[in-house]
Amino acid sequence: MSNSDSAGIERLVRSHLLSFVGYSAATSPETLHGKVEVPVENIIKLDANENPYGCSPRVNRALAKYPYLNIYPDAGQAELRKMLAGYTGAAPERIVASGGSNQLLDLVVRLFIGPGDEVINCVPTFDLYRFSVDVVNGTLVEVPRDEKFAVDVKAVKAAITSKTKLIILANPNNPTGNIIPQSDILKIADAGLPLIVDEAYYEFNGETVIPMVDRYPNLMVIRTFSKWAGLAGLRVGYGIFPPKIAGYLQAIKIPYNVNVAALVAVRESMADMDYLMGRVKAIIGERDRLFRELQQVKYLKPYPSRANFIFCSVLRGKASDLRQRLQDKGILVRYFDRPLLRDAIRVSVGKPEHTDALIKVLQELGGRSG
Ligand code: PMP
Repeated sequence: MSNSDSAGIERLVRSHLLSFVGYSAATSPETLHGKVEVPVENIIKLDANENPYGCSPRVNRALAKYPYLNIYPDAGQAELRKMLAGYTGAAPERIVASGGSNQLLDLVVRLFIGPGDEVINCVPTFDLYRFSVDVVNGTLVEVPRDEKFAVDVKAVKAAITSKTKLIILANPNNPTGNIIPQSDILKIADAGLPLIVDEAYYEFNGETVIPMVDRYPNLMVIRTFSKWAGLAGLRVGYGIFPPKIAGYLQAIKIPYNVNVAALVAVRESMADMDYLMGRVKAIIGERDRLFRELQQVKYLKPYPSRANFIFCSVLRGKASDLRQRLQDKGILVRYFDRPLLRDAIRVSVGKPEHTDALIKVLQELGGRSG
């Protein structure tokens, strides 16, 4: 094989990954330099459900003087798991942490799923589930939600076969923002199959199935510090698992998967709960105002949300055009145009001034987007 013979090396790539469609991540503002009508530092980023208030100032202060960046973190995550036990009420031996909850979802998929194994996914939902299952060549069994994006419990149960190894539910769901009643989650858990409940937006919603983990040995709950604690850039997530499953996950995870900066950040966030929860409350209040404002935009239909974002159908024109026009003005939102999610946008809840700027541009664009 010569150096230039890339087709040669390509033949060695696992065949199911040759045409793999990766996860389409949010836009980084620095990549928009010169492409938008505002300076990059003025871009209003409402496309990745980040926390507009940032992290606790205690995190910044502690990181600025943290002296041990040369030392590996504790691979066993003892202090971190203890802190998370305090926060969640779950026992430390049930807890596994990771570099973002994405990584943990991926790890759970790798633990249970091999080629041909089936994973039930209630679509439309967070696209990372498809991504992780496709990477390991598992089979996605898609169960459509109803017109209000509610999970169809009967259809989920009907989709179970002898090959089903995992069911994934996002609660609240991304991108639609609605929740699943706890009774429905438990009906699905009653099937006895491994069930992931992704509670990435728990703090904006307040409902959790963590108290149920003792009763359901198949129930796994995944959470993140990215949203409520404003630590998306540091990548820290965690999950509550049956103790045996936590043991397997600890064994197969990359050893030092939560870095020391993230560990310091969790410690400081835990010590600043009142501040962080005050910000969460502000975001919830702003979510409700943003919803009312979006209802006034003639060509949008917003859906009620229990997370830190609002999903909207675009009733006139193309969502991709609307996204582009907003981006030209320096406002980033997510858009969707795929089966079951035709012509829709998702707007993260920002600060009040972000809502004002967004609504102003949306109203200005009203005449053009038809
Ligand atoms: N789950 C859901 C439903 C999400 O929307 C997100 C963030 N987009 C995540 C998990 C991942 O969060 P992180 O990897 O930042 O912890």
